[in-house]
Amino acid sequence: MEKMKVDCPVCHAEKCMEVISRTEEIPYFGEIMESVVLCESCGYRHADIICLDQKDPVRYSIEVKKDSMNARVVKSQSATLSVPELGLKVEPGPKSLGYVSNVEGVIERFQGAVKTALNLFDDDEESQKNAKLILKNLEKVRSGDKIVEIVLEDPFGQSFIAHPNASKRELKPEEIKDLKTGFATFEQSEVD
Ligand SMILES: [Zn+2]
Repeated sequence: MEKMKVDCPVCHAEKCMEVISRTEEIPYFGEIMESVVLCESCGYRHADIICLDQKDPVRYSIEVKKDSMNARVVKSQSATLSVPELGLKVEPGPKSLGYVSNVEGVIERFQGAVKTALNLFDDDEESQKNAKLILKNLEKVRSGDKIVEIVLEDPFGQSFIAHPNASKRELKPEEIKDLKTGFATFEQSEVD
């Protein structure tokens, strides 16, 4: 693990952003670098995964069942994660983070995101009904009473699902066109 301090690109405070990175060898995938940046001054935080080997655009899918709950999932910042049967999709954006987890962890993150949405739109009856239904379904998925598919698409090939039952294929050019890349750009604000 390596640590260093750099200037923050967000608040421009000097040497207050800590950069922590570590590398790990993932079987059948390659060497990845996990990095976290955290600014002590403004609280900006960002985490990402970078695969150090050159990769092709890739699409993984896996059925969420009891025996695949522990399958390793590496999701980079540029990846789109979806559960088509439930209409759930997390697209890359400036706030999206890369992480290493497993299938159950991914479902847990979806639950967290839907709960957040539930609190955010608490005056919209239709959204509330919808979100509650999705939560109920996610609960069933976790207990094994409902089988859905998780799809992980990454135009930079930095993500993967490690499981014998996971299917993998290269993304088609027209699919790549429809994906967001989520590269963060910092808006320069002119405040002195
Ligand atoms: Zn800062």
